[in-house]
Amino acid sequence: MKIIMLGAPGAGKGTQAKMIAEEYHIPHVSTGDMFRMNIKNGTELGMEAKEYMDQGLLVPDELTVRILLDRVKKEDCKDGYVLDGFPRTIPQAEVLEEALNKLGDQIDYAINVEVPDENIIRRMSGRRACLSCGATYHIEHVPPKKEGICDDCGETLVLRDDDKPETVEKRLRVYQEQTQPLIDFYAAKGVLCNVDGTQEMQDVFKAIKEILK
Ligand code: ADP
Ligand code: AMP
Repeated sequence: MKIIMLGAPGAGKGTQAKMIAEEYHIPHVSTGDMFRMNIKNGTELGMEAKEYMDQGLLVPDELTVRILLDRVKKEDCKDGYVLDGFPRTIPQAEVLEEALNKLGDQIDYAINVEVPDENIIRRMSGRRACLSCGATYHIEHVPPKKEGICDDCGETLVLRDDDKPETVEKRLRVYQEQTQPLIDFYAAKGVLCNVDGTQEMQDVFKAIKEILK
């Protein structure tokens, strides 16, 4: 099963993608997490990506496509995966489609998590991230057991640089201009499914499971 998560930054794609990955035993592939891991490890790719990420811009397609295709070629992705944060532009979607077509394969579901902008801003300012293991919390909705500390690995949680209010608005504009057209792209392929992302996390997940049944 090959799934794409669509939705604005902060809509809950990562939260749901993790739940899907666990339930259906497929890898959760997040380009944002891969970039952040590269930044943490000080790689050249990480340094390059950081320049764009900190400004709320998209990392160029060439760089992003390379990291994604390398990842999905790995053995653990052969029976499917859930993509979180990729594709984010039409050219990225086209490259993915072409790579899958060559294998006689295709995306099965593009799940669009719908959340209005006002909720997004609240979600992103309250999001706390563990840059060590990729876990995500929210100061109100999903607080860690001990304030500021990751439940899973004990590292300090941070407000991502790109979750600061001035960058969030830019990211929302970039989303509307470059990523939203993917909704029509996948609707035309007959694989688009919309879910109401304003519900409680477990209810969003229930709606997704109904779709994937
Ligand atoms: P995305 O991957 O789309 O950027 P995340 O999954 O990281 O979004 O979610 C953004 C923030 O909102 C996180 O702090 C997360 O804990 C919180 N969140 C996710 N889903 C919900 C929900 N259904 N209700 C309330 N808060 C949520
Ligand atoms: P995310 O963790 O998905 O919110 O991504 C964080 C940031 O990483 C984005 O704002 C972009 O700068 C960059 N990024 C992640 N995925 C992509 C992608 N598919 N294309 C371009 N940039 C990306």
